[in-house]
Amino acid sequence: MKPTLVIVGRPNVGKSTLFNRLTRTRDALVADQPGLTRDRHYGHGRVGGRDYLVVDTGGFEPSAKSGIVHEMARQAEAAIAEADMLLFVVDGRSGLTPQDRSIADRLRRSGRPLLLVVNKAEGMNRPVVAAEFHELGCGAPLVISAAHGDGVRELVEEALAPF
Ligand code: GDP
Ligand code: MG
Repeated sequence: MKPTLVIVGRPNVGKSTLFNRLTRTRDALVADQPGLTRDRHYGHGRVGGRDYLVVDTGGFEPSAKSGIVHEMARQAEAAIAEADMLLFVVDGRSGLTPQDRSIADRLRRSGRPLLLVVNKAEGMNRPVVAAEFHELGCGAPLVISAAHGDGVRELVEEALAPF
């Protein structure tokens, strides 16, 4: 079985940067071949002999007028439904935002397994960063830097552990 990891979060938190990290294998090229999928937001990854699929969602665009369900792209909804594991990415530098809280509520209601990923944490105090995001109620935050690769291996191992 190839678990599907779905990356979600508000715009600009580093979802696509993490996607690129997670699919930085030879297998990633496979996703570009016709017949598998032409969707650029799907990729393959492999860590420690374990294969997985990764889906990069466009993010939850902010919209003052509508509720969180309406803010979500249809693709993101479909991706969440298909997720074996959701990777909920937040930004350790900007801190917790109201939009993060809305997304957390929606993701928890989806009932899908969920890992909270605090990104952009290079050079920051990990326990302090993790503590700030604990209140989202999405479990113990995994503190990473997608840009630098810090904590990414540990993230994959934790995401794949149940499968
Ligand atoms: P997305 O909108 O969630 O897909 O975010 P992107 O992956 O496009 O990244 C948004 C911005 O955050 C870009 O300028 C990235 O270079 C930057 N970024 C992504 N990951 C990191 C990180 O680990 N550390 C820092 N400092 N910046 C990052
Ligand atoms: Mg993106």
